[in-house]
Amino acid sequence: MDMDLIQARKVIRAHRPSLRARLLSSDTHVPEPAARPGGGEQLKVWIDQDLCTGDGLCEEICPRVFTLLDDGLAYVKDGDTIMNDPGGQAGMVAVANDLEDSVREAAEECPGECIFIEEG
Ligand code: SF4
Repeated sequence: MDMDLIQARKVIRAHRPSLRARLLSSDTHVPEPAARPGGGEQLKVWIDQDLCTGDGLCEEICPRVFTLLDDGLAYVKDGDTIMNDPGGQAGMVAVANDLEDSVREAAEECPGECIFIEEG
């Protein structure tokens, strides 16, 4: 990867508020995370389509959780069900354990900063 691009991404990340800070500053209500049977808490994810740029990075990083529709916006999926009716926070889904890292990566890389995750 081009060194200038790498440096530029580091600068952007350094000045971007954390996901938790964005969640805490949000006016929207975020439900408490669900408890897992074996302990710990379940990661959940949703997208604010009002902020989505439609570039598709999330789908590239984690296609089992994110998908782009014909309206040019990204939505989360719950298995084969696309959470587009409605989307937004009402379409929040639980994330399988093996997909948590890639969902976090997608949220960090999202240029619209519109992937919101909730975890304990
Ligand atoms: S990475 Fe973010 S801005 Fe890009 S399509 Fe996915 S949700 Fe939208």
